[in-house]
Amino acid sequence: MTDVAAGQAYGRVVLKISGDGFTEPGQRGIVPEAVLHLARQIHSAAQSGTQIAIVLGGGNLIRGAQFTAGQSYIHEYTAHYMGMVATVMNGLALQDALESLGCETRLMTALHMNGVAEPYIHRRARRHLEKGRLILLAGGTGSPYVTTDTAAAQRALELEAAVLLKATRVDGVYSDDPEKNPHAILYSEISYEEVRRQNLRVMDPEAIAKCMQYDLPIVVFNFRKEGNIERAIRGERIGTRIWRKAEAPLP
Ligand code: UDP
Repeated sequence: MTDVAAGQAYGRVVLKISGDGFTEPGQRGIVPEAVLHLARQIHSAAQSGTQIAIVLGGGNLIRGAQFTAGQSYIHEYTAHYMGMVATVMNGLALQDALESLGCETRLMTALHMNGVAEPYIHRRARRHLEKGRLILLAGGTGSPYVTTDTAAAQRALELEAAVLLKATRVDGVYSDDPEKNPHAILYSEISYEEVRRQNLRVMDPEAIAKCMQYDLPIVVFNFRKEGNIERAIRGERIGTRIWRKAEAPLP
């Protein structure tokens, strides 16, 4: 895995955008202004020449784990498929927003939906990136019981991205939930082991384990702050970097 020192632009990145990016704070659904805000940031980041693969979340519409066994006639596994379909809806919205700004994009899905998107085929995805197209990866992994964080880790590994950039609604990794505990400490960097030891809810444990196994750095940052997506792609030090070399949690 190619590592890049902070401050250096990356060659290829996977950018995971959670469903929160598609709506306004405290709301659900798809809010066109929020999608355009994301698209503007991605568009200007793409000018750097970095190859960008975007993995889409769907939590603004549905998260399958909300449908726990026995509480509804909708099975949890069905709800996970509904969640995967939700990510395709976000992808369609982001694709149009990006294209309205002049970006060339391809929407690819792990769950086949040939009427609206290409199937995700690894070699084809690479080819799009090499040709300078932004690729939007929806449908997660195509399998239930995981989240799009796991999909993002998998895609980052197979596409040999230099880093996994996780755009969220908080500033990075905290010692506790910053939305509940105002004294939570924001880490500037932290190791995979420490994230696991402290059981910090940054990403799926599966996603962290995969990144740790293959030494793939993760940068967690706040997409709501203007210009942050561009900064993250340029390799500027923002948010929290999760990687092997972090010695101890540094506030
Ligand atoms: N999902 C799934 N398999 C995957 C990816 C996603 O079953 O590989 C489902 C899962 O129910 C998840 C939902 O799709 O909760 C939406 O994705 P996610 O929760 O990751 O969205 P985010 O939190 O990033 O908005």
